[in-house]
Amino acid sequence: MYEPVVGRFAPSPSGRMHLGNVLCALLSWLSVRHQGGKYILRIEDLDPERCPRSYADLIEDDLHWLGLDWDEGGSSGGPDGSYYQSERTAIYQTYFDRLAAQNLLYPCFCSRAELHAASAPHLSDGRVVYTGRCRGLTAEEIAEKRKRRGAATRVIVPDETVVFTDGLAGVCREHLPTECGDFIIRRSDGVFAYQLAVVVDDGREGVTEVVRGRDLLGSTARQIWLHRLLGFTPPHFVHIPLLNDAAGRRLSKRDADLDLGVLRTRFSPAELTGALAFAAGLIDTPVPVTPRELIADFSWDRLPQDDLRLPERFF
Ligand code: GLU
Repeated sequence: MYEPVVGRFAPSPSGRMHLGNVLCALLSWLSVRHQGGKYILRIEDLDPERCPRSYADLIEDDLHWLGLDWDEGGSSGGPDGSYYQSERTAIYQTYFDRLAAQNLLYPCFCSRAELHAASAPHLSDGRVVYTGRCRGLTAEEIAEKRKRRGAATRVIVPDETVVFTDGLAGVCREHLPTECGDFIIRRSDGVFAYQLAVVVDDGREGVTEVVRGRDLLGSTARQIWLHRLLGFTPPHFVHIPLLNDAAGRRLSKRDADLDLGVLRTRFSPAELTGALAFAAGLIDTPVPVTPRELIADFSWDRLPQDDLRLPERFF
C-alpha cells in the first residue's frame, strides 16, 4: 500500500536559527514536498528556561521569511494537540509509566564527576557509555540516597545490536550495551529527556522520515530501539553532513553562529536558499532561488557524502 511520507522539522528554540538549522529545515521540507507528503513543525522546548516562547515565535517568522510552510504543528497545533514539547508532559508520562511497568527503569544518583568515573572509555565520537553503576541499588539504598538528592531515570538496554540504513550515512550498527549503555529518559529535575520525547512525538505524529544534522546520528540506534519497544514503527533517517566554509574548513564558532537575525539583514531569502542549495549539490551555481523552485528536481542522490561547502561570499 502507498504510504504518504510524513516529515518534520523539530528545532529547539534556545536562540535564533543558524545556518545548520536552516539547511536542515530546507532539506527536510524539500524531501517531503517532492514526495507530496505532510510536513510537521514541532517545537522541542523541553527545557522551558532555555527555550522561551518568543524564540519559538521567531522560528516561525524565519521559516515564513524563507518561504517554508508546514501542514501541522507550531502555533497552529494539529490532531496530536500541542506541538510544543513543554506542553506534552502528560503524554510523555504515559509512556514513561509503560516502561516502568516493564521494570525497565531505575533511578540514577550519579553526579557529573561520578558519571565520568563510572563510564566506559569515550567512544570515538565523544560519547560516553554508562556502565550501570546505579542499576543494582537495593530499595533501602535508593530510599537513603533519595533523602540527599534527586535522581535521573535510566532505561535498561538489552544485549542487542541495532542495524539501520541511513539515507546518507549508509548502514550503521550499534551494540546497545557497549556503545550506548542505559540512557537517561528523565532528568533529575523531572524534565523528560529528549530521547524519550522525540521518540514519543515522532511515533504519535506518524513521522516516517527524519532529516537532521549528522551530530544526532549517534542517538539513532537507541531511538529505533525505543520506537519498537513503545509499539511504533521507526522512521527512515537521513543525517545531513556538516557545513564547511568555501575552503573546506569547519565553520568557526563565529561563522556557525551566523543566525537569521544577521543573515536576514545581508541576504534575501532567495540568495540564502541558493547558497545552501548550492552547498548541498542541488544546483550548480549559487544563484538566488526559492525553495518552491527546488521541489521538482530535489533528490537525495545529489548530496555529497562528505561535509558541505558554503560559497565564498557568505563570509
Ligand atoms: N531538537 C533537536 C535540535 O534542534 C533536533 C532533534 C531531532 O531532529 O531529532 O537539535
